[in-house]
Amino acid sequence: MQNAPIIIQGAMASETDYLISLLKGCEKILVGHYPFYKGELDGVPVVVSRTLIGMVNATAATVLGISHFAPRAVLNQGTCGGHDPNLHKGDIVIGKRYYNAASVNTAFVPQGGGVNLANWQIRKVEAVVDDAVCEVPYFSPDPAFYAAALAAAPFYKHGRAVEGVISSADIWNRELDRINWAYQNYQSSAEEMEIAAVAQICDTFHVPVLGVRILSNNEILGEDFDESTGVLCQEFCRHILAQYTSPKEGL
Ligand code: SAH
Repeated sequence: MQNAPIIIQGAMASETDYLISLLKGCEKILVGHYPFYKGELDGVPVVVSRTLIGMVNATAATVLGISHFAPRAVLNQGTCGGHDPNLHKGDIVIGKRYYNAASVNTAFVPQGGGVNLANWQIRKVEAVVDDAVCEVPYFSPDPAFYAAALAAAPFYKHGRAVEGVISSADIWNRELDRINWAYQNYQSSAEEMEIAAVAQICDTFHVPVLGVRILSNNEILGEDFDESTGVLCQEFCRHILAQYTSPKEGL
């Protein structure tokens, strides 16, 4: 199992190219048209997976990655938008919970009653966890992988790296009321479009998972999308990997 690779996922080139450039013996493998880059990162066997954007792509890339590479763990990383007014562009959220923000029940509202977030509630997701079909409100990281990320946090020098809740959906949300609703009601620190799907699949296949995201934007603070933050998150993931695989030595 120690020789099994760790899959490091990113949706966009700006979230994967830096890691790919560091891979020793890099081999590109297409599985069902999804690109994977196999090699060694800081002495650790890894597969960098470009999932493409969104929940469906992330699901497909995770299923294909797990079945093709039998990984030791999956690290989903990349950019996100801040929901917490205390987090700035360049800060990192180490995800302690991941929920599907497009999984929603609404109360009945008659015609002409309008659309109101007060009538919305996050709906539990039907998932296969511990080999049984169940209804889960959110997914959690593997404890050892999560502990490794917390141990790596002091090495991050471009902002703060803090614990938080990450919400996922195929939605780029710029409505401040909706952002505040997620923050107040579900403690969402940040939004993105992949980790809840990835964590659901990893739970189903008993693969340890972790989600770590850097703020590339925060609408509350008027901080616009900055794709270049993707490199800083990839750099931080090297420290997480070092803590996870050889905690005493570090990077
Ligand atoms: N150039 C593209 C950028 C897409 S960003 C465009 O303008 O369409 C979408 C990706 O960034 C997703 O993979 C998602 O995980 C992440 N992301 C970053 N900030 C986000 C935000 N505020 N809301 C949703 N996804 C965000």
